[in-house]
Amino acid sequence: MRTSKLLALAMVVGATSLNVALAAPAQARPAVLDGVSCLQGEDSSARGGHGPDHRSISADEQRAIARQTKARLRQKGVTRAELRATDVTVPVYVHVMAADDGTGDVTDAQIAAQIDVLNASFAGDKSPDAADTGFSFTLAGTDRFYNNAWHKDRSSAKYRKATRQGGANALNMWLVDFKYLGIATFPWDYARNGGIDGIRVHWDSLPGGSIANYNLGETATHEAGHWFGLYHTFQGGCTALNDEVSDTPAQSSSTSGCPEGRDSCDLPGLDPIHNFMDYSYDDCYTEFTPGQASRSQSMWAAYRA
Ligand SMILES: [Zn+2]
Repeated sequence: MRTSKLLALAMVVGATSLNVALAAPAQARPAVLDGVSCLQGEDSSARGGHGPDHRSISADEQRAIARQTKARLRQKGVTRAELRATDVTVPVYVHVMAADDGTGDVTDAQIAAQIDVLNASFAGDKSPDAADTGFSFTLAGTDRFYNNAWHKDRSSAKYRKATRQGGANALNMWLVDFKYLGIATFPWDYARNGGIDGIRVHWDSLPGGSIANYNLGETATHEAGHWFGLYHTFQGGCTALNDEVSDTPAQSSSTSGCPEGRDSCDLPGLDPIHNFMDYSYDDCYTEFTPGQASRSQSMWAAYRA
């Protein structure tokens, strides 16, 4: 049953994947650790993969993407002043991928509440320290499918290509039932693979859903963060490069729960456990930082505007 599967939260780190799986049965917390030593030993929530289709990004790739982004901004003639002035409304297309029997058929009220959560979180409403990122969201359309395979996220490239709407600036959100809480694509992959661009989110993580600790709608916030070009705050572990955002202190690994005062790196600053790009509980999430807002704006100008 879906609910029993969701009881166990376990992190799986593979050579090609930093995805976090919801493992079954509940007792199983497999720790498949392969070469990413600073991630060892951490259980975690499951705001899983990212990348074109949930792969991890190496430091070399990070540097290449950063160079490419700078070049694109130069090529497009985007000035610093223009970046600061970014104030964007993102159209959101919600694709409800329900099962034949109606499982996962979230209500319009839940979808409206999800959009409200995105707006509050990206506006910085949850903490006086939080940045207003300049991004807001409006529901552009909802469609509903009753297809067991799609509901289970099978043939995901196919169903995404068949149902995706809008251009590079449109956030497509597919609500499915899979072992993750969510998976996102990055903006720099849009040109190569725009047909699958968007975020897949577990339908039961929406406001009013039943996944304990992850049912306030912040999985979509986290995944949208990736979609804007943000890395996890623990990207690269305890390194200076880390997530390429200077006001999110480095952390060695993802956070589970809401451990106040966690400090997992010798580098300055406590772990940013309240940051939407960590793996903390929904009610522990309160902020994006000004640095993340600025990175998102640059990425938007480079790849989505
Ligand atoms: Zn993530």
